[in-house]
Amino acid sequence: MRVGAIEAGGTKWLCAVGTGPDDLVATETIPTTTPHETIGRALAFFRCQGPIGAVGIGCFGPVDLRPGSPAWGSITTTPKPGWTDTDVAGVVGVELGVPVAFDTDVNAAALGEHRWGAGRGLDTFCYVTVGTGIGGGAIAGGAVVHGLVHPEFGHMRIPHDLDADPFGGLCRYHGDCWEGLAAGPAIEARWGRPPRELVDVEAVWRLEARYIALGLVNVVAVLSPERIVLGGGVMEVPGLLPLVRAEVDDLLAGYVATEVVPPALGPLSGVLGAFVLALGLSARP
Ligand code: ZN
Repeated sequence: MRVGAIEAGGTKWLCAVGTGPDDLVATETIPTTTPHETIGRALAFFRCQGPIGAVGIGCFGPVDLRPGSPAWGSITTTPKPGWTDTDVAGVVGVELGVPVAFDTDVNAAALGEHRWGAGRGLDTFCYVTVGTGIGGGAIAGGAVVHGLVHPEFGHMRIPHDLDADPFGGLCRYHGDCWEGLAAGPAIEARWGRPPRELVDVEAVWRLEARYIALGLVNVVAVLSPERIVLGGGVMEVPGLLPLVRAEVDDLLAGYVATEVVPPALGPLSGVLGAFVLALGLSARP
C-alpha cells in the first residue's frame, strides 16, 4: 500500500504519495505560512489522493520525539514566528485517520539517503545540511540516533578567531555556534549581501569552507561515519564542496578518512526519508 510523506521545512513543505523514488505518484510543494494554513493545505493534498497506509513526517525543529510524551509529534521551541508548540503529527494522524511516524527533517534525509542514496549499505553515516540553518542526522549501527531528544549538530561550538572574523554570530541561544557562524543568514549578515551575490568573492568561501569543515571534523571525531552527505542551499554554491573537502583533509591531517559527498537524491532526500518512516509503520502487523 502507498504511504504519504511530508518534508516539513521552515520555508516550504514538500508532500508526496508513493512508496519510494521509483513510485512517486504525486507531489506538492506548499509554502510554510501559518500552522493552520500550512497543515490544512497538506491535509487537503492527501485527501485528494487514493488510500494511504501511513504518513511519515520529517519536520523542522526542535521537535518532541520522546515516546509517550504528551507533546510527541510537536514543534517545540522554534524561533519561527507562530510555530512554537505546534502539534503536527497528532493533527495529521487524527485528520487522515492513519498512523504517523515523526522525526526531524535531517534524520529523515539521513534515512532517505541510507535507503536509496549516498548512504546505501553503510553502517554509520551522517547527513548534514547547511542552508538557512545547520542540522545533522546520524545513522549508527543501521539505526537513526535520537538520544535525549535528537542531535543538534548545528549548535556545536567551533573555534572562532575574533581577530580574523569579528562577526559575533546569529544564534539566538549561543551567538557564534556552528550555525550562528556558518548558516546562510550568517553569511549575509557578515558580508552585507546574500550568498548568491557573493559567489565570486573568494574570501567569503574560504572562511565558509573552514567553518563548515571545523564542524564536520567534530562529527567525524565523535561518530566516525564512513561517509557524510553534505546538502542544503549553501552547498549549491559552485566550488564550495571541493573547498570544504580540502579543509576537512587539512584538519584531519590523514588521521581518518571520512568521505564528504553531495546528496545522491538531490532535493528529495528528506521527503523520501519520510517515506522510509511511513513504510516502517505500515509494515508493522
Ligand atoms: Zn546555537
